[in-house]
Amino acid sequence: VSEEILKQHQLKVTAPRRHILEVFQQAPDSHFSAESIYQQLGEANIDIGLATVYRVLSQFEAIGLIERHIFTKDHFVYELKKEGHHDHLVCQACHLVLEFFDNMIEQRQDIIAETHDFLIQDHQHIIYGICPACQKKGDWKATS
Ligand SMILES: [Zn+2]
Ligand SMILES: [Zn+2]
Repeated sequence: VSEEILKQHQLKVTAPRRHILEVFQQAPDSHFSAESIYQQLGEANIDIGLATVYRVLSQFEAIGLIERHIFTKDHFVYELKKEGHHDHLVCQACHLVLEFFDNMIEQRQDIIAETHDFLIQDHQHIIYGICPACQKKGDWKATS
């Protein structure tokens, strides 16, 4: 499947592109930093340098295959672009990103825009906080 997607986007199928795309496909709701992809590939004994990971990610971003976010200062995360809208919860200690969708929030935002005569093009709703695992550790320090 990863090979077909690369071909559809007119990208030559190379081992790094295939492996990195598969990391995203195996966890379509996850948000990865370049370092975490690099680490994950290393753990699977796939030898791809961090510079290559960065290069492939910016190629994927350029063709609209993935999206890049900066939720916390100086920390980029990437996710597979998918149909439909979702918002995010972001852990300020470990950079974990979770997705949510809430009809009531969506409706309220429509009403707010309407009240201000705004034609909505896009919106982002981000909840910053501390994830359960970091709360348990107790020694978390928010980064932004
Ligand atoms: Zn955390
Ligand atoms: Zn997301």
